[in-house]
Amino acid sequence: MPKRVSPIDIFNLLPKTNCGECGEETCFAFATKLADRKVDLELCKPLFEEGFKENLEKLKALLRPAVLEIRIHSPSREVRIGGKVVMYRHELRYDNPTAIAIAVSDTMPEEEMLAKVKRAEEFKYSYIGMDLTLDMIAVRCVSGDPDRFGERVKKVAEATEMPLILCSYDPAVMESGLSALKDSRPLIYAANKGNWKEMADLALMYGCPLVVSAPGDLNLLRSLTKTLLEYGVEELVLDPGTYPDEGLKTTINNFTMLRRCACELEDELSGFPLLAAPIVAWKGEEDPTIKAWKESYLACMLILRFADIIILNSIETWSILPIVILRQNIYTDPVKPVSVEPGLRVIGNPDRNSPVLYTTNFALTYYTVMDDIRDLDCYLLVVDTEGISVESAVAGRKLTAEKVAEAIKETGIEKLVDHRKIISPGLAARISGETEELSGWEVLVGPRDSSGIKDFIKKRFYGEG
Ligand code: SF4
Repeated sequence: MPKRVSPIDIFNLLPKTNCGECGEETCFAFATKLADRKVDLELCKPLFEEGFKENLEKLKALLRPAVLEIRIHSPSREVRIGGKVVMYRHELRYDNPTAIAIAVSDTMPEEEMLAKVKRAEEFKYSYIGMDLTLDMIAVRCVSGDPDRFGERVKKVAEATEMPLILCSYDPAVMESGLSALKDSRPLIYAANKGNWKEMADLALMYGCPLVVSAPGDLNLLRSLTKTLLEYGVEELVLDPGTYPDEGLKTTINNFTMLRRCACELEDELSGFPLLAAPIVAWKGEEDPTIKAWKESYLACMLILRFADIIILNSIETWSILPIVILRQNIYTDPVKPVSVEPGLRVIGNPDRNSPVLYTTNFALTYYTVMDDIRDLDCYLLVVDTEGISVESAVAGRKLTAEKVAEAIKETGIEKLVDHRKIISPGLAARISGETEELSGWEVLVGPRDSSGIKDFIKKRFYGEG
């Protein structure tokens, strides 16, 4: 279970002036929100003044999550990775959705490279009322030429607002990339056994987080992490290696072991965000479609196995979609179902004889129903079930005859139509009799699956066919 920090312990370290600068009326209210991880410490500006230096350090240590939160930014956009308090989302929730980076290389023709960056920047998929997007660009040095890399990093930074990951094991190349950026905090990939000191110097000089890379060797990863921490680099990201095919089992085991050590054993050498590189699926001679498919399932498996940041090659919608949808589902707060505003929706141009339907305000149900009735002229009552789906809401008394009758009254639908017939979801059949009694409306029990609504309305509401 997550380590619970007491609001009292936090309060005792705050300035206790109740100045309200943080947006809360009292320091205790702020302490409570901090304990629930609903606000950032930075909101308490007085804490960052000289006299509170010691308290600030104590608070940072007290609030450090099992997995350190790291911020990476461009001049205009920030991505946060890590910050996990728990191993499994049902224990609390997962913050900071896995950041998805699309890779470009410095040997790509410039036009092609910028076109890929543009596609990544513009990728957007609307899913249950949310826009799913990509987060970062990883610029890989393949040329080995520091000047070329620096020039390409500059071009990419000018073409996108997304924060960058700079990828090279050569410190001279990395320095060229870092010096090409202004007002940015990219992620440096990566320090390894051979270059750790030079990369650490760059991370300290440019104030950037650093990836520690030891593919397939957790002992080496721990040893490098310890060395880098002792050297003074505090913000690290761990790359335990990503292997497709026969290596998948080892990859998943390594990711799981690291996260377990961080969350359950409070091992400080494991308490950093994990980087996965499903892009490795692109090695070899297979058909590009197979490679993109392998990359996609690798990414999905590693999002489930604790990856905080992933690097992909494919920008094809079909291979990205499963990844962004899975990420959305994993990072939804398990105690707060995704919901929409209850109330009346007018679909098309309904008249006084048009059908009236009702559904729940669980976002997935709502958008599925909306999609199935988008060509109709009708009214839809969205009943507040606290974001619970129809079947569960009926079972848990969140969708009751009283609530439906109340929604009919409150939305004023009685003034908009002359008839008194309402179509209920098929899965709410068992409250139909009581709903009729309480509302005075006839309930037509609709199909269990909303894809059958159109046909149902045609036959049962209009009596056609
Ligand atoms: Fe207290 Fe800091 Fe908030 Fe002021 S800004 S009320 S000192 S927590």
